Amino acid sequence: MIPLARVEFTDKDLKAVENVLRSGMLVQGSQVADLESEFCKYTGAKYSIAVSNGTASLHLMLLTHDIGPGDEVIIPSFSYVATANVVEVVGACPVFVDTFQNSNNIDVDRIVAKINEKTKAILIVNEFGLCADLFKIREICNQNNILLLEDSACAMGATIEGKHSGTIGQSGSFSFHPRKAITSGEGGMIITDDEEFAVRIKTLRNHGIHPKTNSFSMAGLNYRMTDFQAALLRSQLECFDTMLSKRTEIAEVYLSKITNPKLLLPNYEMNKKHSWQTFHIILEDSLNRDEVIQHLKEKGIGTNYGAQCIPEVEYYKKKYKLDSKSLFPNAYRAYMQGLAIPLYPQLKSEEILYIADELNKL
Ligand SMILES: *Cc1c(COP(=O)(O)O)cnc(C)c1O
Repeated sequence: MIPLARVEFTDKDLKAVENVLRSGMLVQGSQVADLESEFCKYTGAKYSIAVSNGTASLHLMLLTHDIGPGDEVIIPSFSYVATANVVEVVGACPVFVDTFQNSNNIDVDRIVAKINEKTKAILIVNEFGLCADLFKIREICNQNNILLLEDSACAMGATIEGKHSGTIGQSGSFSFHPRKAITSGEGGMIITDDEEFAVRIKTLRNHGIHPKTNSFSMAGLNYRMTDFQAALLRSQLECFDTMLSKRTEIAEVYLSKITNPKLLLPNYEMNKKHSWQTFHIILEDSLNRDEVIQHLKEKGIGTNYGAQCIPEVEYYKKKYKLDSKSLFPNAYRAYMQGLAIPLYPQLKSEEILYIADELNKL
């Protein structure tokens, strides 16, 4: 069986964790701070703040920007449900916008119509490791005096015009869940260039304790990352560019070898570098996606749907009663007909060709 995703650590990764565990300094040692400065170097952001997971980082981002009851936050209708959940949890209202069929990213031309005096931010998603049209969206945000926040959970290593994902908006959020390119089991990161914002995030992350004065300066949470998780991430970060090149090579083989006209392959502009967290294809309506998943499983290939059309999942359907099929046709199709196929550095050439071959036979 070729699984959809695979996590593999090197002996060096494990040694790094062991060293921290043996030191006894499990939290608030030097590993988290070192990871944060290395993450700044990698992304080009001025400040990086490590947190307990990607959802915690989105939550802190909204809290720190004072987004709450009475505010509206524009989000893409196709993403992992966490993007909408954090907006709900702070008491704000998510406003859904359809996505492009080719890139699965928010359709820029549909944003302006959703902006009103309650709109506080656009929380975009750099879906599956591909940057949204961030510069165009930033211009819309600047013109309307609203925040641009980036859910970059899947987009570590992704760039647009040479700039790393998460650095175009006021802040960017990353996840280190096992489904992402590097992992600490659970883990997350927020990046920003705004010092005051960074200090508030650090304060909120650590029980409201101000990082400079050490006073309990506000009501906060405990969203800290442990030092052994940070050590595991630091070790993987050292070889991240090699892993990223492997992912790109595999994606390029898929793009040239999958020739079945019933499958819509991912498509993107040349000014963007895809990080290929997920290789996501959309099946023609003549194919039943769930039957295809079952068929491929019988062929020894693990696949799954890629993300949700969020207004279609139970909570959002009951609360907002939106007809996704007519309001968000592309997101709806991506949810019903989308298929994520295996892509990870350990995938062997013959496995890649076998997968492409089986997809061509559909
Ligand atoms: C994975 C993911 C999250 C959640 O990250 P966790 O670390 O699992 O909490 C949020 N948004 C998107 C787009 C994701 O892919």
